[in-house]
Amino acid sequence: MNKQLDYKLLPILATKSEPDWKRFLAKNKKKLAEMDLQVHALHDKISERTDCLSCGNCCRSLGPRTTDKDVERIAKALRMKASDIISKYLMIDEDGDLVFQSMPCPFLGSDNYCAIYESRPKACREYPHTDRKRFYQIYNLSIKNAYTCPIVYEVMQEITMNPQPLKGN
Ligand code: SF4
Ligand code: SF4
Repeated sequence: MNKQLDYKLLPILATKSEPDWKRFLAKNKKKLAEMDLQVHALHDKISERTDCLSCGNCCRSLGPRTTDKDVERIAKALRMKASDIISKYLMIDEDGDLVFQSMPCPFLGSDNYCAIYESRPKACREYPHTDRKRFYQIYNLSIKNAYTCPIVYEVMQEITMNPQPLKGN
């Protein structure tokens, strides 16, 4: 079993690898569009051996975009009014998105558990996105996420070092 990558090393490791990832994209646009099966298999394998509770880096550093539906769900879970959830925890950012007022996320515990796990925003559920269909569309986003998430870093390394185009995605 591979040892889990320490998220604190990612800024150094990803900075070193980013030029290779960009070169791979420039040379393999077509191949990448046929690689979903490989990317998803890697996502499953790497996620399975990754303990998010010993990391929590996304919840400490990335502000998930929060929708009205997310707010309603969180409000229901906390038995609060949606307007109170917004005034207490959320703000509009420069892109006009509703995000947490500050990071680390106010719902992240010191043990890295999420206090609203069952009701967390959709963006939190979908992170780190490496199981998404048409992965090539979020390749550049994944380069950014590789600076934060060990799962993404490992997926990027594997697909660019050992690409296996698989059809029938
Ligand atoms: S709501 Fe939960 S999963 Fe989402 S950032 Fe906060 S602690 Fe993490
Ligand atoms: S999704 Fe990635 S960044 Fe977030 S806790 Fe898990 S390993 Fe860490």
